[in-house]
Amino acid sequence: MSGFDFDLVTIGAGSGGVRASRMAARLGKRVAVAEESRVGGTCVMRGCVPKKLLVMGAHMAEDIADAAGFGWDVGEVSFDWGRLVSAKNVELNRLEGVYNRILRDSGVTVLEGRGTVVDAHTVEVAGKRYSAENILIATGGRPSLPKIPGIEHAITSNEALDLLQLPKSMVIVGGGYIAVEFAGIFNALGVKVTQVLRGEATLRGFDQDIRAALDEALVAKGIDLRRETQVLSIEKVAGGYDLRLSGDETLRVDLVMYATGRAPNTSGLGLVDVGVQMDENGAIVVDEFSHTSVPSIWAIGDVTDRMNLTPVALAEGMALVQTLFLGNPTTVDYENVPTAVFSMPTISTVGLTEEQARTKCGCAIDVYVSRFKPMKNTLSGRDERTLMKMIVERATDKVLGIHVLGPDAAEMVQGFAVALKCGVTKAQMDSTIGIHPTAAEELVTMR
Ligand code: NDP
Repeated sequence: MSGFDFDLVTIGAGSGGVRASRMAARLGKRVAVAEESRVGGTCVMRGCVPKKLLVMGAHMAEDIADAAGFGWDVGEVSFDWGRLVSAKNVELNRLEGVYNRILRDSGVTVLEGRGTVVDAHTVEVAGKRYSAENILIATGGRPSLPKIPGIEHAITSNEALDLLQLPKSMVIVGGGYIAVEFAGIFNALGVKVTQVLRGEATLRGFDQDIRAALDEALVAKGIDLRRETQVLSIEKVAGGYDLRLSGDETLRVDLVMYATGRAPNTSGLGLVDVGVQMDENGAIVVDEFSHTSVPSIWAIGDVTDRMNLTPVALAEGMALVQTLFLGNPTTVDYENVPTAVFSMPTISTVGLTEEQARTKCGCAIDVYVSRFKPMKNTLSGRDERTLMKMIVERATDKVLGIHVLGPDAAEMVQGFAVALKCGVTKAQMDSTIGIHPTAAEELVTMR
């Protein structure tokens, strides 16, 4: 046994930190995890989980409207935002308990307080020092806002999840995952939403056809999408906020939310002093084994700004345990990582976009596109279409990418992601019998 207090001290009990800590403890390692806020981290407490619960609540507004086409007289309906937020918070408290219990049952010591690195083998938490053979930084990220006059008046997704009441009108600045998801939630719940983005379309990096279809749907649902627009300043006035926009326009709203990206949580951790190398954005630089420039210090998850997704942080955590404690140096495969944006409608995607296939792969490709009215919309009368797109390498017949916009997109793409990981060909997709009647069967019948 080493002379250290612990074999591993993790700073940050989010998805990645919890997974690595408990896997290491299950191997009999002496592990502690320091957390200054709530165990569960961004995804469980301030991100994926509460967001998805609100998205579900928002979809019910559409379901209620759609019910008439199926013979239901719903009558007068009303919505209680406070009740949804309270119910969501009860669920988050339950999950926090579950995470704490999992850590405890695995034998992990939970240290309450902010962890800082004192030297290459020492972490300080709440005034106490602990020696560690290895230190893992898994501190995640936080919202990053541009420095414009009046930015202090803006909220972020953190506060949006717990608003005391719904505003009548709001601006959401940004065109990424978080901006489109929250625009969908608040719009469906009756808030007049203006979404301001500096680019020509939302979701830079996603497939162009999917982006265009999403933007069309957002506008059709009533979101005022201001493209190629910048917010120059925010001023608090009686009854709201005045936003000065590029193009010499002023917009008055009740609430301003920014979703303009996230920054790694690395400041004030003592990392610079111990020589941990960071990039120009403050992200920890690691090699393919999540090893930092200091031999005893490792980092996983959003703090490394590689692929900022919870399941990727989990994979990095598990790979690290293999590397550190099982003598099996393991890397994470970042190819064909599926993802979803829980916008309304949902988007899910795996593999290359058409543009990436044309530029990065440089190979001849075939593109299959299908647009159709989901079966539910025939009776509901909802004028929304699903879009599916498949990119295939002509020479090898290999499927390079699948992109879906429409109901259940994420549930579909998870399964097809397995096929892409296995190198599925278009011929194999075609030889798979569809499940009828579903939307997913379209992906095996594209011609
Ligand atoms: P993103 O990086 O996805 O998007 C940031 C958006 O803000 C972009 O539209 C960007 O524009 C815009 N932007 C950046 N700086 C400015 C500025 N100064 N002024 C105006 N606009 C600006 O960040 P998010 O905050 O949406 O999400 C953060 C991370 O969280 C993502 O990396 C994502 O992986 C993760 N996430 C994942 C989810 C999921 O899996 N469902 C859900 C939510 C978040 P431009 O495109 O022009 O650069």
